[in-house]
Amino acid sequence: MPTVALPDRPPFAIRARLLSPLASGGTLHEADGLVAVDGDGSLSFVGAAGAAPPDLVAGAVDVRPWIVMPGLIDTHAHLPQLPNAGLGFALDLLTWLDRLTFPTERSWADPAVATRLAPAIFRAFAAVGTTTVLAYGVVYEAAMEAAFLAAEAHGIRAILGKVMMDRVTYDPTIEPGTILNRSLREAADLIGRWHGAADGRLGYAVTPRFAVSCTAEMLRESASLARSTGSWWQTHVSEDPGEIAEVARLFPGARDYVDVYDRAGGLGERSVLAHAIHLSDRELARLVETRTRVSHCPASNLFIGAGVMPLARWLEAGVVVGLGSDVSGGPDPSLFSVMRAGAYAQMARRALTDEDRPPLEPHAWLRLGTLDGARVLGLEDRIGSLEVGKEADVIVVDPGMTAPLSGAGAAPDLDPGLLDDPGALVSRLIFRAHPDMVRGAWVRGEKLEGAS
Ligand SMILES: [Zn+2]
Repeated sequence: MPTVALPDRPPFAIRARLLSPLASGGTLHEADGLVAVDGDGSLSFVGAAGAAPPDLVAGAVDVRPWIVMPGLIDTHAHLPQLPNAGLGFALDLLTWLDRLTFPTERSWADPAVATRLAPAIFRAFAAVGTTTVLAYGVVYEAAMEAAFLAAEAHGIRAILGKVMMDRVTYDPTIEPGTILNRSLREAADLIGRWHGAADGRLGYAVTPRFAVSCTAEMLRESASLARSTGSWWQTHVSEDPGEIAEVARLFPGARDYVDVYDRAGGLGERSVLAHAIHLSDRELARLVETRTRVSHCPASNLFIGAGVMPLARWLEAGVVVGLGSDVSGGPDPSLFSVMRAGAYAQMARRALTDEDRPPLEPHAWLRLGTLDGARVLGLEDRIGSLEVGKEADVIVVDPGMTAPLSGAGAAPDLDPGLLDDPGALVSRLIFRAHPDMVRGAWVRGEKLEGAS
């Protein structure tokens, strides 16, 4: 195991095995590679160490046999819910919200709670290799201010939004009839302070929770706010049969669930809809047509029992899909664990339905958690892969921790032949992910606290 200290800030170079999806398709795999980060935190060299300028090689921190990979991109999570991770198995969605989630979010009415917890929450994401997170917060502006301050100080790339709810809200202090205007005003305040802050590392997503807890007016006004400010817009769609029935009851004039958001002006390439499991052909076509993004959260979907997305069909139709932990609908912030849950779920779907599309390979899951996540956010020209010119959002992973005998007192037994097969290596990282295998995480070359 390398004993060298990992670099804290740019410029630096790391010599390691490199593994990354490529924008042009395919995978970069370099057994003895080198990445160099320039003083601005961008990747200035990615490739074989033997092809790197000698001064870079001489100054590089050698972490072999560890792997440098792009940082993971979580396109759907709920910040305040992290302490609940692992609780509420198999409660249906609406019961789960009432019993577990809303009481937890209500505790952030005291901004001191957010100030105390948010730094640890961002460290928890970094610890599992997540360098970018698109997340929901709570309905309280002061708590969101604290969350943004924590993200700014931590260094993670974060797009956050104050949750908007004007139909069923958990905040008893808000007078009915004033919620819409107050919620829009507070979101606009936060956008003014935080959207594009930290040199573009922080962003704002206007966040109406979902159609069950928002009136048509709030959905429409929130979408308009996102458009006029260049913010993202995020919500949930078509997760659970009970929720879908409730939306049909609340919006009798809409053709279907997606149409509720369509009529509000909420679809488009800056919109990220979480789940999107039970879509009709019409809804699917409309998401493709409007280039609306989807966050696939398979671990959450299995944990709550919402269903199994026909992922292969959605991808074939041309939907831009990334991965989301949906903590704490999902029990684990690690996207490696989300990839594993997704892969199992797709195999179960193949066994139980007549779908005959081939299962996604491990590389495809890694791409969903990195470069495709960047596409969901429209940030694929800046992050998501190890390619020269991109910002250095990278992680270092110790593959020895995935070895079957490493926890049994034997030396890590990764077979060198296995390491030379990138497909086998990614398979090990996904199906035998270890909670501590991420040894370092950087955003723009600045090391994040949490990974060790
Ligand atoms: Zn969610």
